[in-house]
Amino acid sequence: MPDADVVVIGGGFAGVTAAREIALAGRRPLLVEARDRLGGRTWTADWNGQQIEYGGGWVHWHQPHTWSEITRAGLAVELSDVEREASWWVGDRRATGTAAGRDAIAERGWNAFVADADAVLPNPYDPLAGGAAMRRLDAMTVAERIATLDLDDTERAVLMAECESVAHGPLEEAGAMAIIRWHVLSGSSLALTQYAGGRVTLRDGTGPLLGAIAAAATVETRLATPVAAVAAEVGGVAVTTASGEVITARAAIVAVPLNTLGAIAFTPALSPVKRDAIGRGQASRGVKIFIRVRGRGETQNAIRAGHPFGYLATEWTYDDGTQTLIGFGPDAAAIDATDLGAVQAALDRILPGYTAVDAIAHDWLADPYARGTWAIHRPGWYTHFHAEMRRPEGRVILAGSDLANGWAGFIDGAIESGLTAARHALDRL
Ligand SMILES: Cc1cc2nc3c(=O)[nH]c(=O)nc-3n(C[C@H](O)[C@H](O)[C@H](O)COP(=O)(O)OP(=O)(O)OC[C@H]3O[C@@H](n4cnc5c(N)ncnc54)[C@H](O)[C@@H]3O)c2cc1C
Repeated sequence: MPDADVVVIGGGFAGVTAAREIALAGRRPLLVEARDRLGGRTWTADWNGQQIEYGGGWVHWHQPHTWSEITRAGLAVELSDVEREASWWVGDRRATGTAAGRDAIAERGWNAFVADADAVLPNPYDPLAGGAAMRRLDAMTVAERIATLDLDDTERAVLMAECESVAHGPLEEAGAMAIIRWHVLSGSSLALTQYAGGRVTLRDGTGPLLGAIAAAATVETRLATPVAAVAAEVGGVAVTTASGEVITARAAIVAVPLNTLGAIAFTPALSPVKRDAIGRGQASRGVKIFIRVRGRGETQNAIRAGHPFGYLATEWTYDDGTQTLIGFGPDAAAIDATDLGAVQAALDRILPGYTAVDAIAHDWLADPYARGTWAIHRPGWYTHFHAEMRRPEGRVILAGSDLANGWAGFIDGAIESGLTAARHALDRL
């Protein structure tokens, strides 16, 4: 008798959701997670008394799978205000004003970028439905798409900073589809894209949402158990952990990040197209940095293309006059959050007049169980890899937000993928 009906590898939102569904269907899941915690690229933690999310944190009611789970768990959300002051850089020149004024500039570039979004992505949950229009756009990087647009220097600089915050990686590597997808899924406007990506948080963090999904059914779970190999056998699978233990099951769901799939040996080998996709990986390699600063009390939103944290905004203000800024940048290697001098020097180049008193970030790129942040696919992903990566190979099913149809790269996509993978696995039992 196998150890489980379905072994689920990876305990992020995708794997936890899949395991719950298997258990609710009356089958025996076994969830195997490399880290000593569940949650993967979401991680609610305490930082000097402030609850922070090192990874995913923002949610929105346009994210149907996430919102359904929030309702199910009965969790509360909080909405943050638009920052009072905005600044944006064109070369070495800094302009200041309001967020609305800045966004009026941003919109001119953004709307040009997404001009044919309806043809490219007519159904946001079927990313291939756009046919030739989709394939044309899918062939381009974000940088290549911006180069085709008729913009002045200010519009271009502001658009590049916006796009870097979405891509969380170099614009020369991120596929242009990423921008179109966020735009259409958010409700087809820049304002809604910003809202969906950065205004609504869970009051007690993502941890309780994940916990509610995990607690909804009885699932045997093994933490601190990295998987090294998955072998398909007659009528089942054999999963070998890094310590050499063999776990048998009738099917396997492999819900690990795309950029870590290469560390698992599959027998027989996955299809050549899947191996090609895994070899390329996805392009995100950015940083999410928390910086506690002292300075004027007004809430701030500052953007600067090419800066180590070129999308920087106030998240919390405190009675002692300090505030915490959250910054996003395209290259985690460009800033070391533990080097406060380097953080201050970079801060001076985007938001002069503030003193950094503390900073923190998790290096998701160096993290062997992530190797990247939220999924930003390279050009050609949808044309060549998306459908094949989602196709089960016998009893081995790949899953995770990185492979989702809709909100790939978000918590919502992870839950969507977990539901789909569980259905495929149950079909195979
Ligand atoms: C900095 C950052 C900011 C983000 N911001 C947002 C946001 O605001 N809103 C939003 O919705 N999304 C956001 N995201 C994206 C979101 O967090 C992810 O898309 C989602 O959590 C991924 O879930 P998953 O289950 O697919 O993968 P993961 O959460 O990565 O889970 C995969 C699991 O597999 C495990 N694993 C890996 N290798 C092995 C192995 N060999 N054996 C066993 N286990 C293994 C990992 O430890 C991990 O727990 C952000 C992500 C990051 C990093």
